[in-house]
Order: sequence, then structure tokens, then C-alpha cells
Amino acid sequence: MAGHVVGGITITHPERRVFGEDGPTKGEVAAYYEAVAPWMLPELSGRPLSLVRCPQGSTGPCFFQKHHADTLGPHVKAVDIEEKDGDEAHYIYVDDVRGVLELVQMNTLEFHPWGAHADKPDRPDRLVFDLDPSAGVEWKAIVGAAREIRERLAEAKLESFVRTSGGKGLHVVAPFRRGPSWIAVKAFCESIADAMVAEHPKRYIAEASKTKREGLIFIDWLRNTRGATSVTGWSLRARPGAPVAMPVRWEEIARLKSGSAFDLKKALKRAKSLDADPWEGIASLSQSLPS
Ligand code: ATP
Ligand code: MN
Ligand code: MN
Repeated sequence: MAGHVVGGITITHPERRVFGEDGPTKGEVAAYYEAVAPWMLPELSGRPLSLVRCPQGSTGPCFFQKHHADTLGPHVKAVDIEEKDGDEAHYIYVDDVRGVLELVQMNTLEFHPWGAHADKPDRPDRLVFDLDPSAGVEWKAIVGAAREIRERLAEAKLESFVRTSGGKGLHVVAPFRRGPSWIAVKAFCESIADAMVAEHPKRYIAEASKTKREGLIFIDWLRNTRGATSVTGWSLRARPGAPVAMPVRWEEIARLKSGSAFDLKKALKRAKSLDADPWEGIASLSQSLPS
């Protein structure tokens, strides 16, 4: 079948199912990203990006890709970033809906930006706490953890925002003025995670080791390192049911049932009915990480 055109970009095999037999097609995925792009791009635009590409759909093998290739499309941009070994590599970024759709044409399902922009990858401007509950932890407890992080950030004069991960948990995100190094941001996040564990050792854990996590919420502060990513708001997840990582208002989280409460259909409906960004105000905040 010939391709069809979405947002000016040719999408081949639009009829191909990408989330298993009854799930959305590649054409529907492209239409989804075109529809949510106005909400998604403010967070995604201009940041180095890791992709999750699934050439045979989410039920087949998927892979993370962080390096640019010209074959990705003319609106998918490249930025030179120094790697750990000192060599430069081309990283991916997009700054418009055409770039997003070209990546969808290349079977991208998930979008994972850095907490920094491509023009200054060593100067982060966003931190994230990734809350990873172990099996059996109640949603209420995850919501409680997110609210506690919000309060602790507020004590540091940082306003924060929350999204579902599209998986098990929640992400709490705070923007801040560029200036501090990655090392400083990571240390700040670690100190908050450590303080929470010290106060509630039977609720939280801040160590990455999986062995001691039973019944606890892992407060993953390690996403705040140079080169680390977290999934962007409105991104689909390559998991059964086509769940979406969804930015929500703080008042909304208690009413949700899980981190995968939104799927493609619900997210599309939400995109069309929202009159304000759930993260309204994030772009105009001018707040600093405490030194
Ligand atoms: P969940 O709520 O189910 O934990 P999640 O997106 O938070 O969903 P995590 O495993 O906690 O999943 O990972 C957090 C972030 O770390 C991801 O959003 C992703 O950006 C990044 N990440 C995870 N695994 C990898 C990987 N193998 N390669 C590169 N980045 C990864
Ligand atoms: Mn997580
Ligand atoms: Mn994690």
C-alpha cells in the first residue's frame, strides 16, 4: 500500500498494527502525534533525545537510539555532543512536528529527552524524580511520595509538575534557570531522596539495587545525570495497550488509578478537549536551584 501524508510527512504502511492485533495502526500513531504535538513540543523541542524504535511494533524487538543518522529525515536535527570517552557524537533533536512525524515514519514510539537543551548540554535546566514502586505498592502511596517531593522542592523554592510515566509510576519534574552543573543537580536530587528515606525507611529506598526494594518505592534520582533521559509528556509507551506518559495537574493524580491511566485514545480525547496545558506556567517560571 502506498504511504499517506500526515502533517506533510509521508507515512508508509499506515495500516500496519503496531500494538498487537487489536491495537492502533502506524497511521493512527502518526495522527496521534500530529494531534498532540502542540502540547508535547514545548517539553521536547531542542533537547537531545533518545528514541525507542520498534520496527515490528511494540510486540517485536525495540531498541533505544541516541545517535543521529541522515536517514531519519530532513527535519530530524543533529547536534555534536562530547561523549564520556571524549569523542564527539551526533545526537538527535527535533524542534517541530515534521521532525516528530519523520521519527514516527522511522517507527519511533517513545521520545526521551535530556534535562538540558542541545545548545548547552552541560547546563541542565530541568530535574526529574522518577518514582518506581515495587510490586504491590498502592497507588495512594505513590501519590503520597510525589506530593512529598513537591513539598520538599517547594521548601527549596522550586515549583514542580507531575506526569504519569505510562508505566508503573509518576515523574515529578522541576525546571530551573541554567547555571548549575549536572553534578550539582544530581547532588541536590540525591539529598532530597536521602532525606525522604531517612524519614520513612519503610516506604522509600534511594539505592538502585533491586534486591532490597520489596514493598518500597524507589526514588530514582539517578535520572539527573549528563546523558540520562526520561520519557517526555504525551509520549506513547511501547507497552501493551498503547499507554501514554501524561502531564497532569496536581489535583488530578488522586483520581487516577495508575501510571498507565492514559492510553492513546484517552490522550487524544484529552488533547482535543484541554483548554490549558496541565503544566501551564512551566515555561515562564524563573526559579533557581539552591546553591
Ligand atoms: P515506569 O513508571 O514503569 O518506571 P519509566 O519510564 O519511569 O516507567 P524507568 O525504567 O523507571 O521507566 O526509566 C526511567 C527513564 O530512564 C525512562 O523514561 C528512560 O528515559 C530511561 N531509561 C530506562 N531504561 C533505559 C535504557 N535501557 N536505555 C536508555 N534509557 C533508559
Ligand atoms: Mn520509572
Ligand atoms: Mn527508574
